[in-house]
Amino acid sequence: MTLRRPLVAANWKMNGSRGANAAWLDAFAARARGLACDVAVCAPYVYLADVKQALVGAELGAQDVSERDPGAFTGDVSVQMLKDVGCRWVIVGHSERRQWHHESDAVVAAKAERVLQAGLLPIVCVGESLAEREAGRTQDVVRTQLAAVLDRIGETLARGALAYEPVWAIGTGRNATPQQAQEVHAVLRAQVAERDPAAAADLRVLYGGSVKPGNAGELFAQPDIDGGLIGGASLVAEDFLAICAAVRT
Ligand code: PEP
Repeated sequence: MTLRRPLVAANWKMNGSRGANAAWLDAFAARARGLACDVAVCAPYVYLADVKQALVGAELGAQDVSERDPGAFTGDVSVQMLKDVGCRWVIVGHSERRQWHHESDAVVAAKAERVLQAGLLPIVCVGESLAEREAGRTQDVVRTQLAAVLDRIGETLARGALAYEPVWAIGTGRNATPQQAQEVHAVLRAQVAERDPAAAADLRVLYGGSVKPGNAGELFAQPDIDGGLIGGASLVAEDFLAICAAVRT
């Protein structure tokens, strides 16, 4: 019987506008009270301060952060800035950052460390590509990604969360089956337990990849799935609320 409180995080990615965000926040606020999970809303940088003003029943999150100290890094955003505008959570290592911005495991680990040093909480993403899964390399890939983070921040990862996001399931409409996801989640938790069993027991491991209201319940029912990181379905407040309501209680 786990005591981990589920966490469901919305990843809006590069979507939204002031008008659309305001409508989403109104709809969310109307039904957010009493959810049996923690909720984070990870908005694009430019909207963070606005979203913070109107966010009820959830904590604010960012989708990325610089691994560097403030200074001459045009276009980057520091963790101090995220803290300043009221963020609590920061996604690091999302596969779209790894793919389009060539973020290495070392950079992801450095970002996670920055986030924790500032007193914020990282949501560290790991996941294999379709080719890696088909080659039977899933466990090797995710263990390598996680090891880089654990080598840098150790058991303090458990203050934040880990998200298993198979790349082939992100935005494709093809989610991992509950059994596929549970298998990888158990591997990841066991890897943390090799270093610190108590941290492993506390760590929330989220599943991400084509979660929808219709499949969230069976995914979240798995013993090592402690909530979700939700992309496309988080853009519709009612769908996101339905996913939040599907957590195990
Ligand atoms: C994501 O981007 O983290 C994600 C899980 O996306 P989607 O839910 O759209 O697959």
